[in-house]
Amino acid sequence: MNQVPIHLFIVMLLFISCKQKSSANSLEKPSELGVLRQICRETVAGKKIRDTDLEKLSVSFGQRFKKAWEAVENKRVKKYVFKPSDRVVWIVVGRGGDYLILPAADFCSCNDFYFRVMDRQIHMCYHLIAQKLAEALESYVLYEEEDAMYDVLMKEWKKAIV
Ligand SMILES: [Zn+2]
Repeated sequence: MNQVPIHLFIVMLLFISCKQKSSANSLEKPSELGVLRQICRETVAGKKIRDTDLEKLSVSFGQRFKKAWEAVENKRVKKYVFKPSDRVVWIVVGRGGDYLILPAADFCSCNDFYFRVMDRQIHMCYHLIAQKLAEALESYVLYEEEDAMYDVLMKEWKKAIV
């Protein structure tokens, strides 16, 4: 079957990479990710994002937040729900094309993620930040597709990864 591999493969790669590197640092920097997660929770609860939170994000993420916010505002965050399975795929449209996001694994298929996040220079690319904010604000473009389209679309999105 050709349905599970990409997710498992990516997650596997992440774990292998983590294990190979020194265990002194964890992949997630609590302050950065902590700020984002907390603000997302509060945004979901309050149904809107506060100005003070926007400032906090700007301080924590700098340019990455600016780009993420632009992506949210320009409706470049897309949620695909495949029916009837209810499988969900998130896409953020970036400068170089469509990037595949796996929120649970904090994975993005962009080069920035690959070269910098994996190398621990930064902890999240702006696409991941955009996806989390868009989901919290329910400010994304929703597409419903037939399950039959899953493999077809995945093939397109995966092209960007390899
Ligand atoms: Zn990315």
